[in-house]
Amino acid sequence: MEDFILIGERDVLVIHDDRMLAHKPDAEEPFQPGKLDSRVQAILGGLFEAAVIKWSYPEHPGRLLAITDLLTREPVPGVRYETARAATEEELGRVHTTSYIENIYALRGKQAWLDVDTTAVSPGSVDAAEVAAGSAIAAVEAVVGGRAGSAFALCRPPGHHANSVRARGFCLFNNVAVAAAHAQAALGCERVLIVDWDVHHGNGTQSIFWASPDVMFFDTHRAPPFYPGTGSKEEVGEGLGEGLTVNVPLPAGCGDPALIKVYREILVPAVEWFKPDVILVSAGFDMHQLDLCMNLSYNGFGALTGIVQELADKHCDGRLVMVLEGGYHLESLARGVRTVLEVLAGGEPPEIEEPGLREVAELVAFHSTAFKGSVA
Ligand SMILES: [Zn+2]
Repeated sequence: MEDFILIGERDVLVIHDDRMLAHKPDAEEPFQPGKLDSRVQAILGGLFEAAVIKWSYPEHPGRLLAITDLLTREPVPGVRYETARAATEEELGRVHTTSYIENIYALRGKQAWLDVDTTAVSPGSVDAAEVAAGSAIAAVEAVVGGRAGSAFALCRPPGHHANSVRARGFCLFNNVAVAAAHAQAALGCERVLIVDWDVHHGNGTQSIFWASPDVMFFDTHRAPPFYPGTGSKEEVGEGLGEGLTVNVPLPAGCGDPALIKVYREILVPAVEWFKPDVILVSAGFDMHQLDLCMNLSYNGFGALTGIVQELADKHCDGRLVMVLEGGYHLESLARGVRTVLEVLAGGEPPEIEEPGLREVAELVAFHSTAFKGSVA
């Protein structure tokens, strides 16, 4: 048996850099506004359906501020902070084409919409996107280099919808893919596992590693046609990568027990077989019950973290890196991140049970002696 570990006994590095706050697209910028509204509603599952709420770019700097604000008010023992560096063109070029990178660089200092898929930039966005990818690189360097037990890159703009040639779904550079490629090209890792538990399918990451023989991509998400419309279970990769893309499309409303079952019964055997050298998690928090359409609780995120941490401990010396993706409800985003950090720092992964069952069992016991025999 393992010794009992307390929060703070595992060392966790959080990568956070204020330069990522400079990405603040202006939703007022005209761009097929009617079409845009419907696209955004498709992505956010009707979050803004009540049209009385004025639409603003949902992937905004307040997301990071909500997280750092909570972590300042309620620090997690064992968590250290470092700033990031900007990813270089060479590092980005491992997963994006040169022409795509040049096109993004050309937008530096400008304000623009990139496409109808709600992806826009403000004057500070390109710098922010380079630092976001650099954060994921810094996190994987720290963990693989042994400077940190595990790491969490608090990055934005997010990355998992961006493929090698296209910005999509609030994403410019694919941060987790850049980190995975860096682990292989610069840090000596052979096999990399990417787990994506954002509620949206990580179509960009899937596309980048579709035929890769040494990157396994495991994604749980709301089933298509939910945005981005990909991620059916038949999508398994191709060529040398066949079998290394694992999609688990789920119905709306799934909660802790369903997700835990998926991770224990599909991810665990896949990882036993694949034996990665490092595990990266595209950690979105939009599966939380306060966010779009799923029913995960904070305990659910804690339990999923416990499962991937156990896999990392068993197969790759605990090398585990979280890379922030989505999560648009500020409270559940911040508290979700904090819950994950608690488990990374050594906190016991929570036991999952159907909400209320324990209380109901006590109530059943309380009332059990009241109605013996019959009233007449
Ligand atoms: Zn998402």
